[in-house]
Amino acid sequence: MSLVVMKFGGSSVADANKIKQVAAKVIAKKNDGNKVVVVVSAPGDTTDDLIKMSDKIALNPPAREKDMLLATGEMVSISLLAMAVNVMGEKAVSMTGPQAGILASENYGCAKIKKIVPHGVRDKLAENNIVIVAGFQALNPKGDITTLGRGGSDLTAVALAVALEADMCEIYSDVEGVYTADPRVVKDARKIDCISYDEMLEMAGSGAQVLQSRSVEVAKKFGLEIHSRSTFSENQGTVITSEEKIRRKNMESFLVSGIPFDKEQAKFSITASDTAGIVAKIFSQCAKAGVKVDIISQLAGVDKKTVISFTVNRQDVRKAWEQLNRIASDYKASVLCNEHVAKVSVVGTGIKTNAEVTARVFEILHKSGIDIEMISTSEIRISCIVNERDVLKAVEELHRGFGLSRQ
Ligand code: ADP
Ligand code: ASP
Ligand code: MG
Repeated sequence: MSLVVMKFGGSSVADANKIKQVAAKVIAKKNDGNKVVVVVSAPGDTTDDLIKMSDKIALNPPAREKDMLLATGEMVSISLLAMAVNVMGEKAVSMTGPQAGILASENYGCAKIKKIVPHGVRDKLAENNIVIVAGFQALNPKGDITTLGRGGSDLTAVALAVALEADMCEIYSDVEGVYTADPRVVKDARKIDCISYDEMLEMAGSGAQVLQSRSVEVAKKFGLEIHSRSTFSENQGTVITSEEKIRRKNMESFLVSGIPFDKEQAKFSITASDTAGIVAKIFSQCAKAGVKVDIISQLAGVDKKTVISFTVNRQDVRKAWEQLNRIASDYKASVLCNEHVAKVSVVGTGIKTNAEVTARVFEILHKSGIDIEMISTSEIRISCIVNERDVLKAVEELHRGFGLSRQ
């Protein structure tokens, strides 16, 4: 008998009908002769709504209380799904992250899973239950509930699949798998059959929210294949697996796999006199305040001035301003923020071996009349910061230019 972990995201449990559909799906999986563990996210936009509600009460609430609040969303889903499965005549039991033995580091809001002690889950499976676990939450050493970062239910599913030595880990969402670009934006985006862990990590880190990056990191570390599928169709999805395995299957892979983008970027530019230590000061202060810095560039020694630019997620703008205002007065620097930038990326293992890809990216953007404000690269990714109003055009032109559209 195989053990399958099935994860359903917020859009899959957004209302009573969808919850019933998910219940039917997990029962069918059990009836196929599997043991089934289900991980669920909070219904629909519940997590965003809870954040908005807390913002109305306190802008900087105690992190412990914020996690206590956010963890409630997933508890709505587990209990309702367990009820739906029961009504359909199958045994099901819901468990919070702590009840499922998911133990994490102390830091609230983005706790790291340290260990999973899944005895409770195994016992309930042995009693013939479908076990339904709340995603996104864990227990920290203080005995408090913590959350694992946005999109963290994917991580719960992957980590549980590793801990339970599951035969299969399936992540269900409202799209049929991983596409060459967000299928809601690029209408002729193509579903990818197989994608390597490294490409998926770059896709997820650059805005393809269909899988959370940290879940892909853990899957890669333990060699667990992830199957990304749709809750609402039976079609084949995407397998996220090792590059070697993909190479063995295909004689030649695509140069470029996908064009992810992120509209939620902001760019800070700090101009100051050339002063030793200012760069270290800026980034250590940002790190202390929990501001995640993405692309950085520095232009030094022009008229004895230094210009440091960097991008952050728009959610972090307020926190970054708090730090930079202090630095501006200490170093007599001027600070500007452009909240209307976006990032478009080109991801593909072919970038490693084909220098022309980089040149082609810039050529396509230039021919489309799109200015590039900043650039960053990795072995298999090229990212450009562009004006927010140009980003969708950039995605479409790059998608077409690299021949990714459906034939
Ligand atoms: P869930 O609520 O199930 O966790 P998410 O909303 O986190 O699902 O992720 C699914 C969404 O990811 C899709 O609705 C789609 O718009 C978006 N998405 C962005 N880029 C991609 C991509 N390259 N392939 C598939 N989906 C993508
Ligand atoms: N509900 C959480 C979020 O919206 C976790 C998840 O959906 O994976 O980020
Ligand atoms: Mg998600």
